[in-house]
Amino acid sequence: MTATDGEMSVAQRVEALRSQISDHNHRYYVLDQPTVSDAEYDRLMVELQSLEEAHPDLITPDSPTQRVGAQPVSGFDSVRHAVAMLSLSNAFETEDVEAFNKRVADTLRGAGLTNNDGLVEYEAELKFDGLAVSLRYEQGKLVQAATRGDGQTGEDITSNIRTLRSVPLSLRGEYPVVLEVRGEVLMNRADFERLNETQQRRGDKIFVNPRNAAAGSLRQLDPRITAQRPLRFYAYGWGELVLDDAPGAQQTLADEAPDPAQTLRNTHSAMLDWLATLGLPVSPSREVVRGVDGLLQFYEDRGGQRQKLPFDIDGVVYKVNSLEAQRVLGFVARAPRFAIAHKFPAQEETTTLLDIEVQVGRTGAITPVARLKPVFVGGVTVTNATLHNEDEILRKDVRIGDTVIVRRAGDVIPEVVGPVIELRPENARPFVMPQHCPVCDSAIERLEDEAIARCTGGLFCAAQRKQTIRHAASRKALDIEGLGEKLVDQLVESDRVKSLADLFTLKVEELLLYDRMGRKSAENLVAALERASEPELGRLLYALGIRHVGETTARDLALHFGSVDAVMAADEEALLRVRDVGPVVAGSIARFFGEPHNREVVHALESAGVRPRAVEVSDGGAQPLEGKTLVLTGTMPNWTRDEATRRILAAGGKVSGSVSKKTAYLVAGEDAGSKLTKATELGVIILDEDGLKELLGD
Ligand code: NAD
Repeated sequence: MTATDGEMSVAQRVEALRSQISDHNHRYYVLDQPTVSDAEYDRLMVELQSLEEAHPDLITPDSPTQRVGAQPVSGFDSVRHAVAMLSLSNAFETEDVEAFNKRVADTLRGAGLTNNDGLVEYEAELKFDGLAVSLRYEQGKLVQAATRGDGQTGEDITSNIRTLRSVPLSLRGEYPVVLEVRGEVLMNRADFERLNETQQRRGDKIFVNPRNAAAGSLRQLDPRITAQRPLRFYAYGWGELVLDDAPGAQQTLADEAPDPAQTLRNTHSAMLDWLATLGLPVSPSREVVRGVDGLLQFYEDRGGQRQKLPFDIDGVVYKVNSLEAQRVLGFVARAPRFAIAHKFPAQEETTTLLDIEVQVGRTGAITPVARLKPVFVGGVTVTNATLHNEDEILRKDVRIGDTVIVRRAGDVIPEVVGPVIELRPENARPFVMPQHCPVCDSAIERLEDEAIARCTGGLFCAAQRKQTIRHAASRKALDIEGLGEKLVDQLVESDRVKSLADLFTLKVEELLLYDRMGRKSAENLVAALERASEPELGRLLYALGIRHVGETTARDLALHFGSVDAVMAADEEALLRVRDVGPVVAGSIARFFGEPHNREVVHALESAGVRPRAVEVSDGGAQPLEGKTLVLTGTMPNWTRDEATRRILAAGGKVSGSVSKKTAYLVAGEDAGSKLTKATELGVIILDEDGLKELLGD
């Protein structure tokens, strides 16, 4: 009785999985609108496969484990594939690859097809994350293109494929009589981002990822729409192949029955090389490797390059290289036995958005952060992801309680891609920007023309204080070595450091009381603070963290005013006289120094012994560029812009951002553009780096 119960429940589970998977297939292949991540889908599929393996009597011919894709949709004509378009079996773990290699090696040994060293030779390729298509060329002309559909019958997308620039309409060189090219249509990530921006502006459908954008773009009933979409194609295989049309001399070379005796191209890699000579795009990122070590090395290499590729790959594919060996190995229901896809860890997963909290940045910027049900994605467990700002949340229509797609690619900060609207619970609630800072309770304000809401607490807000001090300690500001984030947090939280000035009164003995602070580090830090207490004026102004005042503006201010007091005393009008300072920057500086607590910080810095130096001017001696304005453009061979600017300032010159009649010299590096043209027109003297050095007496 119990056994029957058990079996019943296995059968029920199998049925439930089949129905879920076939729903997902429909949404993915037909609607281009999946509701679960690929990883989640793969888990369902793996579960079904293992249940079927344990209970072979439950296997039915229409199980998703036995079939490919989904039925083609009406709207397109159907195309029956001359040679079936199959899928690939998957390997997720190293053991899966080892087992695959062992199966292959055993079969080939049995067939007497072993290499001398006993290692199987494979062609290893990228696994493009797009959609499979078959292009049929007859007498060298593209006559038909089809999607994979259910593997036997696909959709006729000939007019759409013709709009892809990477697909040749005629083959080059000595083309065969019939050639069915199999390959992948995909969209580069940058093109995908741009497409989504356009879609958003027009109020059209947003795609969840480049694969779905590619599929949705290709399967358009109106080829004019496809023509506007940036699609690309890569060939990786072939279907029907007729080499010669002499009567009675037909040679057919198909995935199913490659006949290497009839052709010199008896390996998969040689076949792809040949496709390339016919003018078909074939990825150069493939390699012939031997044995399981060769496979795993390729997997690791390509895994490391994954982020650098312009398009998404979801793994690599290993194919036994010898076509004769492929023929011996043959096929299972939905995939060849001679190939396997080795998948990379998923970069996208779905999870629940538990809440949206806000974080406070240095200038008070409020960043909404998604609190997520922990999810393993991109190799780590993610519990938080950025949502950037309020508008972004609205644009993506993310609500608390939603199932969301989370993406973590490489080392990039995890982000919420968007919600799965179909799965939205009734009680999902929209995000409301809090009115008060969660750290200091000051009001949160959002200026009309700004995307970012801000805490108005300024340096009263501990969150802003921590960030301000981290900023001040950074390399381009006061460059205080040994003042790490954790220590800053402790110093601020213990109220020992209420403002930048308090840093400069820190003593070794008290530092020893903080976590993970040894005497040596404490001494080093105090020494670093000592060095930092005589900063260049520009660096000090930058370190204050005034909004809109970057390094360059800070240096210009230093040069123009010569002291902090003079900058503090300047009104907006006076500030506007500084080079490149416009109303926004002038307003921000004036507001900053208008705040009494900011002025107090400056005075406290003085009392703590911080003595800024004016921008270095060469030792009182020659000022070869006195009163001269120079403009820099292009890339110099040795000096960076910063370096060149420092030298020019030190020699008494000025550096301006635009060429005018007052420009004395234009220093032009490589790739100089419009400034060079303008300078030539105005008859300004043009120098290269060496010329500048000469002028400086270097
Ligand atoms: P697949 O995508 O895992 O592998 C087979 C396909 O890989 C081929 O058809 C071909 O298009 C492609 N491919 C890319 N590069 C290749 C190369 N160099 N050589 C040969 N083929 C190459 O299998 P599938 O059957 O197309 O789809 C299953 C996968 O699709 C799942 O693992 C999942 O990732 C995704 N899927 C997701 C959902 C969802 O709801 N999220 C639903 C269905 C399928």
